[in-house]
Amino acid sequence: MSAADVETIVVGAGLVGLAIADSLSARGHEVIVLERHDRVGTETSSRNSEVIHAGLYYPPGSLRARLCVEGRKKLYQFAEDNGVGVKRCGKLVVATTNADLPALDGIAERALANGVDDIDMFDAIAARKLEPELDCIGALHSPSTGIIDSHGLLVALEGHICAHGGSVVLSTSVTAISRTPDGLYSLATRSTADGAQSQSLDTITAKNLIISAGLGATDVGRLLNPSYREGYVVPATHPAKGHYFTLAARAPFSNLIYPVPSGAWLGIHLTLDLAGKARFGPDLQWMESVDYAFDDESGERRKRFETEIRRYWPNLPQDALQPGYTGIRPKIYSEGEIPADFAIHGPGTHGLERLIALYGIESPGLTASLAIGDHVAAMLLNDAAI
Ligand SMILES: Cc1cc2nc3c(=O)[nH]c(=O)nc-3n(C[C@H](O)[C@H](O)[C@H](O)COP(=O)(O)OP(=O)(O)OC[C@H]3O[C@@H](n4cnc5c(N)ncnc54)[C@H](O)[C@@H]3O)c2cc1C
Repeated sequence: MSAADVETIVVGAGLVGLAIADSLSARGHEVIVLERHDRVGTETSSRNSEVIHAGLYYPPGSLRARLCVEGRKKLYQFAEDNGVGVKRCGKLVVATTNADLPALDGIAERALANGVDDIDMFDAIAARKLEPELDCIGALHSPSTGIIDSHGLLVALEGHICAHGGSVVLSTSVTAISRTPDGLYSLATRSTADGAQSQSLDTITAKNLIISAGLGATDVGRLLNPSYREGYVVPATHPAKGHYFTLAARAPFSNLIYPVPSGAWLGIHLTLDLAGKARFGPDLQWMESVDYAFDDESGERRKRFETEIRRYWPNLPQDALQPGYTGIRPKIYSEGEIPADFAIHGPGTHGLERLIALYGIESPGLTASLAIGDHVAAMLLNDAAI
């Protein structure tokens, strides 16, 4: 094999791509991250709830369950070691009707099976002792759920990569991928910076390739068609938008408040940022294509949010909700289908050596990011595992 320009290229500088590059560069591996925007993490990694999930909901044994629980521990440690804002504020999953109670027991069972061993079940009195404004008939308390400054996390990861000799190249979109006769990955790129010719790369070759491109992963993965093993199909991405409303006043809660989930959707929950500001959401709207517009001209969405929130917070003041922002989940299953696990495809799956591609990294991808980084680095550095 002739020499590649670089040992490993990661496509996508969201939290997951950066965590993978961080893990590789910390092991002395040469790595470059290519990102189409002019800053890191401007897509899903900065349009989420910033919650460090405990690992309550995901099917035991799934990658989502395992990497969430592992990632949560790594993330608290990383934040503390690197001065990234973080708080173990805790969370209550609340039952507001008798019909919710069996679901609450189901979550408790799942949490235990996932190795989350610190949950408590509260009756209404105990829940209200913790959160006097809460209306519920029972609750599950998860003290290891928390919140994190996702921007601080992105900056810290980028800093680590550069300190280990890696680089993050911004304003660079990957537009074509081919294999050289001796098996290197050759990436054609286009500069997306206005007039910044110095950042323009034409082609770059790498021995290893990681596709961690979030909502763009399917498009990037398909650039390698038809080189995959016969029968392998790059997973399609089905975008699902979530809207957030923010609260004009300060919320009278110190824990995050979640209703009992509805299928794979966690419901309209209350989360807090590190400044104590509350936001509600995200809701779930399946989309044909990626579009971040906040859509509530008729005011119907706000009404729906108010109804949902008043189930657990009846004193939500009138007209207190303000339109916030949206985020888009890169789902790899369609509406009505069984929720898919994280898809981390190596040669054993798609047939191309030294390629790892990640699809469907929706929640809890932030929580799991550092664990995904270590998992993918281990896959790449230990061929036997892939
Ligand atoms: C509404 C919502 C709420 C969420 N809340 C939480 C939460 O509270 N807790 C939690 O743990 N998780 C949460 N998540 C999930 C979490 O935000 C994501 O799993 C995580 O941010 C995914 O990171 P990523 O790096 O895979 O993707 P991204 O952040 O989308 O990064 C992918 C990057 O690839 C780049 N890219 C794409 N195509 C190309 C190309 N051709 N060339 C170059 N670059 C390219 C993109 O520009 C982008 O920057 C939430 C997600 C959503 C949508």
